[in-house]
Amino acid sequence: MLSFLLFILGSLITFVISQDCTPYSSSYDFSSGYPNIWEKPTSDNFNTDEFQQVYNSIDWSQVPDIQPHTVVNGDIDQSNYPDDDPDCWWTYNQCSSPNAPGVQPDVTICPEPETWGLTYDDGPNCAHNTFYDFLKENDQNATMFFIGSNVANWPKEAKRALTDGHHICCHTWSHQYMTSLTNEEVVGELYYALKAIKTVIGVTPLCWRPPYGDVDDRVRAIAQQLNLPMTVLWNLDTNDWDMEPDGSETSDQIDSNFQSFVDMGTDGTFANSGCIVLEHELNNGTMSKAMEWYPKIVNAYQYVVPIATCMNVTQPYAESDYSYPSFTDYTGTN
Ligand SMILES: [Zn+2]
Repeated sequence: MLSFLLFILGSLITFVISQDCTPYSSSYDFSSGYPNIWEKPTSDNFNTDEFQQVYNSIDWSQVPDIQPHTVVNGDIDQSNYPDDDPDCWWTYNQCSSPNAPGVQPDVTICPEPETWGLTYDDGPNCAHNTFYDFLKENDQNATMFFIGSNVANWPKEAKRALTDGHHICCHTWSHQYMTSLTNEEVVGELYYALKAIKTVIGVTPLCWRPPYGDVDDRVRAIAQQLNLPMTVLWNLDTNDWDMEPDGSETSDQIDSNFQSFVDMGTDGTFANSGCIVLEHELNNGTMSKAMEWYPKIVNAYQYVVPIATCMNVTQPYAESDYSYPSFTDYTGTN
């Protein structure tokens, strides 16, 4: 009897905790016209008129001929890559100034001094309402790098980002190492993520962030031609993505990472230009850390802003009827 009661109690607790994350039906149909959720696009996707039109809209003479890297045991293989970094491969040496002509440099910092560029990757998270409530209560917007597969699974949560005024950027369809993909796969990862965001949220981002920061001149050139002129990296990584229990760093280690970045807000590190910090809405652990450290960040830095704001992008989406405040407007400075 007791064990039965414990079973019921356990089920109840599990239900309460996972309630937000129970798949629900929506008016959006992702069963066709998209790759499988959390899978790379395949020939099923490539052999469609829709995809061919997108693929053929790219001027491939402007895309450097770089062979895809291989992934070994879940890691991108850097052996045999030349020391002089011909492809400006961020993974190899954090190169962000392309060698290929006409390719835009990555955005890695906020140009304004004493400014923290606030970014959260890998959403929308199915259980992010507490976190988004927190940001709202603090009148704080951030740049959200959304994964297309998560947008497909959690459309209500995706829409909330726009309603709350956050700045939405693309974080690919299924979160692969982009430099390991064929040209068709790169196009598919970006195109279908943008399509999902447009379908569900109603806007088309002009910015994206490569998963793991894995980008080179080939991938940048393709993204740029898909109307993603802004590739956003970071110059400070909290390593929250690698936190226990799923990762290898302890909670204390993540705290000390945050603390050192908070210290940089008052020790003159960013006297001339600011930072862009990598954080995640990946799970309850990363969202809790984000909320715990936010007040200290705001105390230490003069400005805490989304990337559109720090880059003075007032039209963050392809749709021209949506505008965003400039840095001056957002911060009330002039
Ligand atoms: Zn990511």
